[in-house]
Amino acid sequence: MTTLFISDLHLDASHATIGEQFLDFLAGEARTAETLYILGDLFDAWLGDDDPNPYYRDMKIALRSLTNAVPVFFMHGNRDFMVGQRFADETGVRLLHDPSIVTLYGQEVLLSHGDALCTDDVQYQEVRAMTRDPAWQAMMSAKSIEERIAFAIKARKESIARGESLDDSIMDVNQDAVKATLNEHDVALLLHGHTHRPAVHTVDLGHRKATRIVLGDWYEQGSIVRWDEDGPRLESMPR
Ligand code: MN
Repeated sequence: MTTLFISDLHLDASHATIGEQFLDFLAGEARTAETLYILGDLFDAWLGDDDPNPYYRDMKIALRSLTNAVPVFFMHGNRDFMVGQRFADETGVRLLHDPSIVTLYGQEVLLSHGDALCTDDVQYQEVRAMTRDPAWQAMMSAKSIEERIAFAIKARKESIARGESLDDSIMDVNQDAVKATLNEHDVALLLHGHTHRPAVHTVDLGHRKATRIVLGDWYEQGSIVRWDEDGPRLESMPR
């Protein structure tokens, strides 16, 4: 059996081919998996679980169909951090804290979306702290969908205006943050997404070496980590 990891699909009605590939994946390979982990930014934007946008209906139905057979874990990204318990109840996915350690085939791996590691982007980290605050999220959830859409459009414009995007961060992870995280959690393997720079890195921690696997985005093709008894493999999935 194989455990699967994906992230950074950025599902959005305006990029229909991504959603089509995702639905094919859920109905196909994902069905054969031991477990599926979605490590954030599944959606390009998520205004709240009460968003009536019909585009998400098929996605939720497909996830529900899969979770009836295969456990699916969902970790928040910087685009879909407003995904909540209602979405989890509707789809059957289990919300996973960022970061989380899981043990696969005898090896511990630290799972994260990855945006928390981009500490060079100080302004973004301030936004991140604000938007992950339950009080801020409650304030936002109390607004109408129309108000939230307007807020999201304004926030995106401001983000672009200051030359950095909160979406596919052009900034890479900070190496000191990576090392500190690996040491803090005492793991030899870190798996994350967010930067859209798929790669397998060796991290020299001085007294030991660790591995950092980065999932890619799904803009041009799928990106996946397949992990079985032979270990994890980072691979792409052509459309
Ligand atoms: Mn991200």
